[in-house]
Amino acid sequence: MRIFEKELKRLRAVDSLVNLNFTRFGVNKKQQIKRLLYEISKREEISAGKIIKDLPFFDYPQIKRYLLERRYPHSSREPGALKPYLPKISLKACEFLSPKAEKYFPRRIFIERSARQASLSRRVKSLFKGARIEEIASLKDYFCKHGRPKVEDYNKRRDTLFITDESYDFFKRCPCTKGALSCGYNIFNLGFGCIFECTYCYLQDYSNSPGIILPANISGFFDRFGSYKKDGMRLGTGEFSDSLALDDITQYSLPIIEFFREHMKATFEFKTKSTNINNLLCARHASNIVVSWSLNPQPLADENEFYCAPVKERIEAAISCVKAGYKVGFHFDPIIYSEGWQRQYSALIDNLFSKIKPKHIAWISLGTFRFSPGLKQAIERRFPENRILDEELLFGFDNKLRYPFSTRSDIYKHMVDLLAEYSLRSKIYLCMEEVSMWKELKLKSPF
Ligand code: SF4
Repeated sequence: MRIFEKELKRLRAVDSLVNLNFTRFGVNKKQQIKRLLYEISKREEISAGKIIKDLPFFDYPQIKRYLLERRYPHSSREPGALKPYLPKISLKACEFLSPKAEKYFPRRIFIERSARQASLSRRVKSLFKGARIEEIASLKDYFCKHGRPKVEDYNKRRDTLFITDESYDFFKRCPCTKGALSCGYNIFNLGFGCIFECTYCYLQDYSNSPGIILPANISGFFDRFGSYKKDGMRLGTGEFSDSLALDDITQYSLPIIEFFREHMKATFEFKTKSTNINNLLCARHASNIVVSWSLNPQPLADENEFYCAPVKERIEAAISCVKAGYKVGFHFDPIIYSEGWQRQYSALIDNLFSKIKPKHIAWISLGTFRFSPGLKQAIERRFPENRILDEELLFGFDNKLRYPFSTRSDIYKHMVDLLAEYSLRSKIYLCMEEVSMWKELKLKSPF
């Protein structure tokens, strides 16, 4: 158990200073002052006591205004941008994952009765000898009996594997976000939960499963595809999990490639932060299969993408897939705004596209860090020492927290200009961005 003493101490200091100095304020006012003091203290690496000493005012509206301007200096100057989210902070001593991933080995495996005979069930039984294996009536039944998982259960999700027999949720359209220009993506819902651990992962707030869920009936997905497919559609498995992280166990890439070879009017994408590509290299490629990697500069990956393959190895894996005949894609998403971001992203792009030529690239997505409000507290609880929340993240056009428009626009302009130097402008799309941003950048959807 690692206890985040530093951040707990900071929060305790903020708590007692506010209770001591602002006795007249009610609960809500105190909560907002605590939140702002805590965030400024963390962001500026300064004691909360020093911030309070600097306060030039005594009444609540002026104090709040002062703290907001100090916490969000850039957004305070941008008309209409200062829409902060200031929920209660509650840091608890929490168990963090060891910084290095151990080899994936679930200690408890629950198999739905109807998936008992499936080849995936047999394979996990033989691969994970020593794991406790239990048959369950259904996943739904298991969840009813055990209740909603707590953050501790989510932290230990690598210990638990559910093998299911999917009967309902096969495909769906990506919901995108309200007010954004959609890229029209479709989700092939082959699994839920991820063995990697990214600070920004939305599954921390979204997931209600204490383990990784893998459907055993991939043929059921293929059977249903006929009634879902549309000419020109793009779909993939990387929305609720990493497409390839467990491919050595599921071996699903092999039948997927074979299946889509017979459905050339659709394009299938494996999206990953892994280098688990052996099956892909053994298979005969198909021209409508895209293998894509999410990339960030290594220093940002070190801070935020635990257990994932090093960026250099992801790029090497992409080069191997190109050599094997696949088209590849890249997702600069989430782009993280932080000290030195221009230099770091420039180096990453130069390195990548000096090795991979435009003709091998299917698409490139750009998306700056954004998230539903609930994720803010989930990140704080699970990664109290994160730096990713220290930047200015405020309610945006879709009520998600985002960098202000001008910051996002500067980031995208920089990235688009860099990619244009490699003749890649026509392959770029923005993920979950408002129409005015597309216009500002003079970008057209490649789809
Ligand atoms: S790789 Fe993707 S799904 Fe997995 S933890 Fe990271 S962001 Fe989440």
